[in-house]
Order: sequence, then structure tokens, then C-alpha cells
Amino acid sequence: MRRKLAAGNWKMNGTRAALSELDVLAKAPIDPAVDILLCPPAPLLSEAAKHVSGSPVVIGAQDCHYEPSGAHTGDISAAMIADAGARAVILGHSERREDHNESSPLVRQKARSAHAEGLLAVICLGESEAQRLAANTLDIIAGQLATSVPDDATGANTVIAYEPIWAIGTGNVPTTEQIDEVHDFIRARLVRRFGGDEGGAIRLLYGGSVKPGNAAEIFATDNVDGALVGGASLKADDFLPIIRALETSV
Ligand code: PEP
Repeated sequence: MRRKLAAGNWKMNGTRAALSELDVLAKAPIDPAVDILLCPPAPLLSEAAKHVSGSPVVIGAQDCHYEPSGAHTGDISAAMIADAGARAVILGHSERREDHNESSPLVRQKARSAHAEGLLAVICLGESEAQRLAANTLDIIAGQLATSVPDDATGANTVIAYEPIWAIGTGNVPTTEQIDEVHDFIRARLVRRFGGDEGGAIRLLYGGSVKPGNAAEIFATDNVDGALVGGASLKADDFLPIIRALETSV
């Protein structure tokens, strides 16, 4: 039985003042069947971890370098993230793939480093609008999945987030049939590669314009184990109704 996960990605938003949103989440009653992950910008990780200490909310980072230390100005390692009190890291987000030219093999290296430090790797995949219109979605997903996910992936150390690029921050959401098709495809590929136990245990999140108003419908979709939420995770007032919709789907 896969646990449900509501994950929030603050991207490059928020200063210390925004951590009061975490206090609200940390105090809210959360169904024990649901995991909550919030990924603030790197400078806030350590402080954020203190704000949620003792609550069901855990903190994650938005990226890491694949090496544990070294001459990589501006980068942070998985070891540093773990040391800050975080438990997870988002990897291969389309904004990093686009803004920083990150390739799937690089994402795989980063995921291995995250696993070595005991971090949950939330690996993002997704097609562009042009790729969907050209009916290439499943080919793109197959390629990203095969090359971004390392061989040591298990249900305990890896989550896959399907995030169609055209749905991120746009308000355009795929139909539940489209989400279902891609999630079923990812599940089948994971089972084929890792076997029924591990391939069946890796959680699949949907991401892209998830809001309080559409969360319940998305969570009712087969093979959707939760969501990776951008804009609507910045305010507890928006994120909590999404968490409640996920709790209802359990
Ligand atoms: C994201 O960037 O991971 C995301 C899903 O963003 P939004 O929810 O704002 O579309």
C-alpha cells in the first residue's frame, strides 16, 4: 500500500517571513496516512526544518549537486541538505532541465547522491506542449524515466512526479484520462524494470496547476499517489485544502 504524499515546491519564493506558513501547516491535524513535504529555497532549509520539528511535515530541497563536496560554486550537496535537517530533494524539475540544461543522466547521478545521503529523491518527468501535440508524450516519458531514475531506486527512496511542462504555472491541467494514461504507463515501466514489489511501491505524483478546486478530481485518478504543487503550496490556506482532498482520497 503506497502512502499518499502532498509535496510543495516553493521554487525561488519566500524569505524567512514565509516560514510562518509552515507553522500553520505544522499545527494542522494531518491524517497519519498522508505524508507532507515542503521544499523551500535552500537558504531556508535549516530554519524550515526547525519550524516543522515534531510535526508530520518534512522539509526537502529543490536540487542538489551529484558530488558530496568540492569546487562547485553556488551548488549544494545532498550531504548539506541532510545536515540542514531536510529529508528529501526534488530533482530534474523541468525548470532546472530548461534553465540549467540538466540532462536525464545528470538527474540520475544526483538521485544516486541523494540516496547515498538517505534523502528521498522526487524525480520529475514531463513533456512539452509541442511534444504532446506531436503525440510523443509516452516516448519522452519513457526516455526520461529510463535515464533519470537510478538502478537503486526503491519505494522508500524514490518518488516520481509527472509534470507536463505545459501545465506548470499555466492553469492548464490535463484531463484525468491524460494523467491516467501517463501514470499507468510509468507504473508499467517501473514494474517491468524493478519488479512488482519495488516498481509497485514507488509513488507517482501529478504536478502542474494543482489547486484546491481541482485536487479532488486529480486524486481520484488511478495510480495518482499525491501531488507536487508549486504556486498553491506557498500559502497554507491554499495548500491545506489540497492536503484535505488527498486525505479524503485515502
Ligand atoms: C511545479 O513547478 O512543480 C508545479 C507543479 O507548479 P504549479 O503547481 O505552480 O503549476
